[in-house]
Amino acid sequence: MVVGRPDVQGREAILRVHTKKVPLGDNVDLSVLARGTPGLAGADLANVVNEAALNAARQNRKVVMMVDFEVAKDKILMGAERRSMILSDKEKRMTAYHEAGHALVAAVLPNADPLHKVTIIPRGMALGVTMQLPMDDKHSYSKDYLEAEIAILMGGRIAEEKYIRQMTTGAGNDIERATDLARKMVCEWGMSELGPLSFGKKEEQIFLGREIAQHRDYSEETAIRIDEQVKKVVQGGYDTASHIIDERSDALVTIAEALLERELLDGAEVMQIINGETLAPLAAPEPKNPEGRTQHVIRPEGGRRLPGLSEGETPQPA
Ligand code: ZN
Repeated sequence: MVVGRPDVQGREAILRVHTKKVPLGDNVDLSVLARGTPGLAGADLANVVNEAALNAARQNRKVVMMVDFEVAKDKILMGAERRSMILSDKEKRMTAYHEAGHALVAAVLPNADPLHKVTIIPRGMALGVTMQLPMDDKHSYSKDYLEAEIAILMGGRIAEEKYIRQMTTGAGNDIERATDLARKMVCEWGMSELGPLSFGKKEEQIFLGREIAQHRDYSEETAIRIDEQVKKVVQGGYDTASHIIDERSDALVTIAEALLERELLDGAEVMQIINGETLAPLAAPEPKNPEGRTQHVIRPEGGRRLPGLSEGETPQPA
């Protein structure tokens, strides 16, 4: 069953309804919150409001502040933080460099959604998360945008290879998603040298909501050419990411080391590092709530919803 998702005005209206009986702090701007929650449905937004109110209550505050909404939003978008999950120092280092690779490529590529946050605090199934937030609601995707996505997905593995000199299974989900996108570009969206043709008719079992079979309506020779094109698209993303990481090697190392120290960086901080600026020293420890969770935030790699990719995919070790 497919239910349309509300656009930014729709989300603001839904948030207004759900916050009607909630005492809001002066700094709460529902239009900002609506812009920061693309892809969320009405029920998700109701959950964001509930979580924000719970968070305020845990802090013994009488009003719900913007920071409560940030915490709530990221919990809904990315799954709860799992601080209880203990990573070895080796895993942490690997995750920091992997996520730094995604973050650097995302921050540098002009056609990508802006980088929101990057963290090595485990969330849901993911050891680390790089989160981009679109500027607006997207209804279609350009070839440049999709190529940037593939490059960002490749950035994690490349950073592992170059700086840890080891490959882990952590990048498996990235590679699968990149390949899936590339195949759709070639076979469904006509974005390759094979031209504007669609290859492979799908038989969908509607009530199950998933593909059950794919008919091959092309020759063996075409199959080989499709594979070549898919490989070319993925390799293109790999080369783009590899080039960015080589050119800005210092920035990549600084981002990874800052992640090891701080566990979380926002998009502006990553840009500061890329521009060679020094980050402001860590502030005094933030007041922690009774569960010891800091006021920090994100959304899963799988959270960027792309056409044809299943929604609500569980974030994998990233
Ligand atoms: Zn990854």
